[in-house]
Amino acid sequence: MEADQFKDFGKAMIDYVSSYLENIRDRRVLPTVEPGYLRPLIPETAPEKPDNWEDVMSDIEKVIMPGVTHWHSPRFHAYFPTANSYPAIVADILSGAIACIGFSWIASPACTELEVVMLDWLGKMIDLPKEFLACSGGKGGGVIQGTASEATLVALLGAKARAVNSTKKKHPDMKESDIVSKLVGYTSSQSHSSVERAGLLGGVQLRSLPTDDSNRLRGATLEQAIKEDVEAGLIPFYAVNTLGTTSSCTFDALDEIGPVCNENDVWLHVDAAYAGSAFICPEFRHLMKGIERADSFNFNPHKWMLVNFDCSAMWLKDPSWLVNAFNVDPLYLKHEQQGSAPDYRHWQIPLGRRFRALKLWFVLRLYGIENLQKFIRKHVDLAHYFENLVRSDERFEITEEVVLGLVCFRLKGDNATNEGLLKRLNGRGVIHLVPSKIGDTYFLRLAICSRFTEESDIDISWKEVKETADEVLAQK
Ligand code: PLP
Repeated sequence: MEADQFKDFGKAMIDYVSSYLENIRDRRVLPTVEPGYLRPLIPETAPEKPDNWEDVMSDIEKVIMPGVTHWHSPRFHAYFPTANSYPAIVADILSGAIACIGFSWIASPACTELEVVMLDWLGKMIDLPKEFLACSGGKGGGVIQGTASEATLVALLGAKARAVNSTKKKHPDMKESDIVSKLVGYTSSQSHSSVERAGLLGGVQLRSLPTDDSNRLRGATLEQAIKEDVEAGLIPFYAVNTLGTTSSCTFDALDEIGPVCNENDVWLHVDAAYAGSAFICPEFRHLMKGIERADSFNFNPHKWMLVNFDCSAMWLKDPSWLVNAFNVDPLYLKHEQQGSAPDYRHWQIPLGRRFRALKLWFVLRLYGIENLQKFIRKHVDLAHYFENLVRSDERFEITEEVVLGLVCFRLKGDNATNEGLLKRLNGRGVIHLVPSKIGDTYFLRLAICSRFTEESDIDISWKEVKETADEVLAQK
């Protein structure tokens, strides 16, 4: 494709994208296709001669859109949001054009340097303690990971390196394999499944600790577990504190957990994948009270801060544990400025990395903090609006306190009725929700996800829930 055609194709695509997004609420949120729907719609082999871009464009509606779940529809209430904005989309075009692989500073200095500064900007926006920020001149700094799952794993590996190092100092005769077999980390029964996975990938034990009646991990529970494990000859080394759990957007007691971790030389990682974006608003920062005790902190601007996937912001007080743990240094990756700027390949699992800081820069500049705060506050208000609608119907109950943009609710009564309600709701395809279960209680989760959502959309979602409940209850 030559530049002239690229310009026409690109312009046509921009028009298509803007019309897709602006009219997204008119599409059925969940597709009706069956598995295997796509193969018969396209040829069995790649074309020998090039197709026209116009034909590719016209296949989008025929081949792709029938199988798309419209995550940015105001009727999409499943999981947590994933971000989408015009500035981030445009930044990704530029990132695609530069198409560098920024594994080291010299591999594209702007890629590394913009990332360092953006993580400082973002850290300041949520009032992170200065120990996490590169601009403070200390050891700390930030990095963009692909996902929160990667951040949890990377933090675990840093914690493992730190624990092996300090145990070796205390017991120089202990073999590394013996030390690793004694390491034990902690998480709560409510943390995301990626935490358990990090333990499996990292080859260490993780204990899943019980939460209190409000589904929060408490300091005393962690303290007791550490005590038991030390008595059993194990080495506590890592704990994950969730701020905004996936099931119910609950906040572990960070201000209790932090001191316990610090006293026991346990690396504290804070996973605020969804909720972290809300900390740009001062009124939600009380939810991160105690953050100064953490060793690493992570949240996903790609969830709730209008930066398209992937952009998972992670800060570390002392990244040297990662840098040293993952440091392999072949000649072809060495450069003369090594040591004077981060080589981000040491901070992550893969070698390659895209120029993701561009989309953060574009979004922060083109929205400004003020509009990002407005966006978060609007979603929280919409969640309370839906909460009040649910509360106004005495057949329903709210099962968890609504703190941010997630409403957990159910029909009063048994789980089977609620399972029936959800199945029927998703089957109708007007709105899309996923369930969760805490203890024996099955409930529905309604997350405010789209940046297009207005009160009138929430009215439609509530009408849909109510009418479907009428049908389910009439059948009982
Ligand atoms: N942690 C929490 C609390 C989450 O809610 C999620 C996803 O929703 C994750 C981690 C995983 O996020 P990612 O897909 O970025 O790995």
